[in-house]
Amino acid sequence: MKIQRIRSRGWLFTFDDIEGTYTNVYVIQGKQHYFLCDTYLGPKPMEDIKKHLYKVSEELPFIVFNSHYHWDHIWGNCAFPDSIIVGHASIINMIHMYSEAELFRYKKYQQGTVKIVTPTVVFKYFLAFPDERITLFKSPGHTFDSASLFDVFDKVLYVGDNIEDPIPYLENTDFEQYLQTIEKYENLDFKVVIPGHMSSDSILPSKRILKNNAKYIKAILNKENLSTYQRKKYRITHRENLIALEKLGYIPVEGDIL
Ligand SMILES: [Zn+2]
Repeated sequence: MKIQRIRSRGWLFTFDDIEGTYTNVYVIQGKQHYFLCDTYLGPKPMEDIKKHLYKVSEELPFIVFNSHYHWDHIWGNCAFPDSIIVGHASIINMIHMYSEAELFRYKKYQQGTVKIVTPTVVFKYFLAFPDERITLFKSPGHTFDSASLFDVFDKVLYVGDNIEDPIPYLENTDFEQYLQTIEKYENLDFKVVIPGHMSSDSILPSKRILKNNAKYIKAILNKENLSTYQRKKYRITHRENLIALEKLGYIPVEGDIL
């Protein structure tokens, strides 16, 4: 677990237990709560985070935010039995539909005993904590149920898996909605963007990443020539995307890898 301070009130906890990617848990210290974004692989790393925060700072209660239903973002929810857990309204159904299969498929990754826990508070468009200067908002993209958190005070934007370096994983064919989400991000006055995953445990992506991700989604939407994405740094993710999208009825352009 690598710990970095981010601006005036953030901690970035970065983990390295899933091959090929680093995974983030982002915590903001508000006036009365810690806001914890995504709960990684189980209760064990969440207890480590609590221990660290209580040691270096105050013992505040937690408000937990799930950016989307995927296993590597919700398995630690069970470490917060007394906390409010917040997510987009559609996350509940998605967890009910997929969590059992994901727990079976990826069980070797669980850290501590995982019990699936769904959010206790959901929102349709946005949810604001004005005293804490935190806003959560709907941001469909990587998945239909994706949501993001904006720390208005620190100008830090947590985007879950919607933004990834160099390109995001896609499992939702509503690309126009995805592009609207990225446009919404671009219109926010943020200084730092924190994604759910990173290719390095120390370098945060620059603002350019938003443009690069949008360019890829536009290319998929418009069925442009995708040969650029057969280059080494994109190939694995791009191929997985085409396989996932084909199952959802998307027809790749002729000559594309599949
Ligand atoms: Zn995901």
